[in-house]
Amino acid sequence: MSKLVNETKSTKQFLIINGEKVETAKYAALYSPYSQEEIAQIAMANKVQVLQAIAAAYNTRGVMAKMPAYQRAEILEKVVALLIKKADEAAEIITRESAKPIMFAKAEVARTIETYKFSAEEAKRIHGETIPFDAAVGGVGRIGYTLREPIGVIGAITPFNFPMNLVAHKVGPAIAAGNTIVLKPASQTPLSALFIAEIFEEAGLPPGVLNVVTGPGSVVGEAIVEDDRVSMVTFTGSPSVGIGIRNKAGLKKTTLELGSNSALIIDKDIDIDQIIDRCIMGAFSNQGQVCISLQRVYAHEDVYEEFVTKFTEAAKKLKIGDPLDPKTYISALISKGEAERVLGWIEETKSSNATITTGGKLQNGVLEPTIITNADHSLKVSCQEAFAPIVIVNKVHSIEEAIEQVNDSRFGLQAGIYTNNVKNALYASQALHVGGVIINDVPTYRVDQMPYGGVKESGTGREGIKYALEEMTEMKLVVWNQS
Ligand code: NDP
Repeated sequence: MSKLVNETKSTKQFLIINGEKVETAKYAALYSPYSQEEIAQIAMANKVQVLQAIAAAYNTRGVMAKMPAYQRAEILEKVVALLIKKADEAAEIITRESAKPIMFAKAEVARTIETYKFSAEEAKRIHGETIPFDAAVGGVGRIGYTLREPIGVIGAITPFNFPMNLVAHKVGPAIAAGNTIVLKPASQTPLSALFIAEIFEEAGLPPGVLNVVTGPGSVVGEAIVEDDRVSMVTFTGSPSVGIGIRNKAGLKKTTLELGSNSALIIDKDIDIDQIIDRCIMGAFSNQGQVCISLQRVYAHEDVYEEFVTKFTEAAKKLKIGDPLDPKTYISALISKGEAERVLGWIEETKSSNATITTGGKLQNGVLEPTIITNADHSLKVSCQEAFAPIVIVNKVHSIEEAIEQVNDSRFGLQAGIYTNNVKNALYASQALHVGGVIINDVPTYRVDQMPYGGVKESGTGREGIKYALEEMTEMKLVVWNQS
């Protein structure tokens, strides 16, 4: 049986079920990925507690379904106002639990604020359409229209790499649409999710609407996915876990935002000096732990040498170190195990024709930004998702060849092309097999209202508030017989 919590000054973090902080039998220490210091003790939910959270969300779904749009919008607007006030605290939480350099953590908080702003606005724009019934012989004398109704309980499972904004991409539209939520954040980054849940409570969200359950994915995540009271699972994370969820979800709606090895094409007419900063950001921000991180560059032979030289020089200048230092650009990967995995992938390239132009080693436990040229497509750094500060740069002789290389991937999230040739841009926008084509920027470009999602093993369904709202509502048809 779960116990409610009285003490407030504890470093322990609890489950949030039905508006209450709930104790668990087991706690796990949460360590900073950079300093290895203990940051908090996190409640580990058992299956019974996950079922209690689902029950709370299920029993509250009627409250949310009846709440008018203006009230849902007001709660989201209050969350925006509170988060603006607490932005520095929010950024520090992200940095401490994920080692995201503070400059990028601040940028994530700014985007999170926008995501909730868009959610507040979209809450007021949920509508159906009228149907021209008399276009069918059997429709004469009828009028009809569609409504969009909340789907009910949404299970939201989120990754570590944008622990605040990717929670916002699920919680924001879910509440805008009038749903209730059971949120399971990544085990390494529960603090951002718990912080946001407190803000929602302060903003007046009724108890039971947003329940946060921490603990291992294999226990908490699976219990959410398998429960019949959950109508939809929205998941962001790795392809392997996403595919497992899809296989178990049965008839539940599923949105899967998965990984990628995103690519950029650089055409022969590009001024290389103009694009280096964007390529550095695309490849190395958040240590490359971004689902649309720039992992593969295909540069035209006319600009290839210049690009490699200037890109390498710029990467060497990036400051490596403590994520709380405002000048740090690159800090630790999310775990030591991840760093070891990536070093193994770099080692594999050494027995091929590839060249490491910079990086490839750890500096005080932090992987240096790494650039590898002439990498064969069968190498792991090329064909799998690196999720690390690694980028390959290969020479191509034509845009057609570059597109073929980009499409030679299990993934298809976003791709970019720098070109001044409008025919090449148009051709690339049609021929690239991805969810989004970014012309004259890196594939890492994202703002939070745009439709976002992938093809192939990058997933299914779209986020971006308006598009997530479509996934998080059910269409209902109403037909009136006038005779
Ligand atoms: P994981 O797939 O390891 O974990 C994601 C979430 O799933 C975590 O909350 C995890 O919990 C949970 N989980 C683990 N096992 C199960 C299970 N059996 N059933 C249900 N849930 C489970 O991803 P990471 O956190 O490592 O994130 C990195 C991945 O996310 C990359 O592949 C990246 O590309 C992708 N991603 C995609 C984005 C997109 O929008 N397309 C955006 C950001 C990231 P626990 O932490 O407890 O294991």
